[in-house]
Amino acid sequence: MIDRLEKLLRMIVPDLSGLPLYIIDAADMVSRELLVGAPRGFWASDLAVKSHLLARDRWAGRGPAMVLDLDLIAADVQEFAPGDLRRLIQAVLGIGLHEMAHGLQLPFDLHEPNDYAECEQQQHVAELLSTAAAELWARFPPDLPKCVAHELPFIRAALHLHYRAEQADAKILPECVVDATQYELSSTDNYRRALGDEPQRMADETFAIIRDTTPPRAFAKLWCDDVRQTFLPDRNVSSRAAKYFIDELIRWVPASKGE
Ligand SMILES: [Zn+2]
Repeated sequence: MIDRLEKLLRMIVPDLSGLPLYIIDAADMVSRELLVGAPRGFWASDLAVKSHLLARDRWAGRGPAMVLDLDLIAADVQEFAPGDLRRLIQAVLGIGLHEMAHGLQLPFDLHEPNDYAECEQQQHVAELLSTAAAELWARFPPDLPKCVAHELPFIRAALHLHYRAEQADAKILPECVVDATQYELSSTDNYRRALGDEPQRMADETFAIIRDTTPPRAFAKLWCDDVRQTFLPDRNVSSRAAKYFIDELIRWVPASKGE
């Protein structure tokens, strides 16, 4: 299953060219605590999983990494479609594309730590961060917008990935990659329509080029309208932190500044 996902990602993400891609099954992890707060999958720092990879002779230098909990994903599918292998493949590929979209929001961090101590320190920090993630998350204000961490660049990358996967004959529902309603936004379909033919036009580009290109106006507008209209009037946004986040969310769209 992981091989299939890697093959698909290598086919549709030119940015991975020449890099190792680490897709780790949570069941193989030394420390399942790394999964706290992100039960089915998460985009990981490769430095946080480096010791795991070294112990299995899989470390091939810095590269993008994700962890998927295949047992949990299989249990989910078993619940609504027992024994349906096709649905299981779709779920694994969908979650894999979702995690990849997280990784493609920013350039990959590939700098080599200067020395062993720095590397160890980063691993330690990464582990501390992930083990403390649930606790940290719990301290966020309850009215924090649900789309935090799944902002416009994420949705855009996810929709490009979905389009490319479809072209590569992988049948995945767009909502399996990004379900915008989960983040209290308009439907994924609305975002697809607003993105228009951009995925088609840029199908051969790297995601670095996509990031450097201003998104279609309708797409940026939908995001800004969602953030402003969905969050502000309907909710009692009481905490300063939540207000700060809403301002920050709108700033994800450079073109929207001053509008
Ligand atoms: Zn996510």
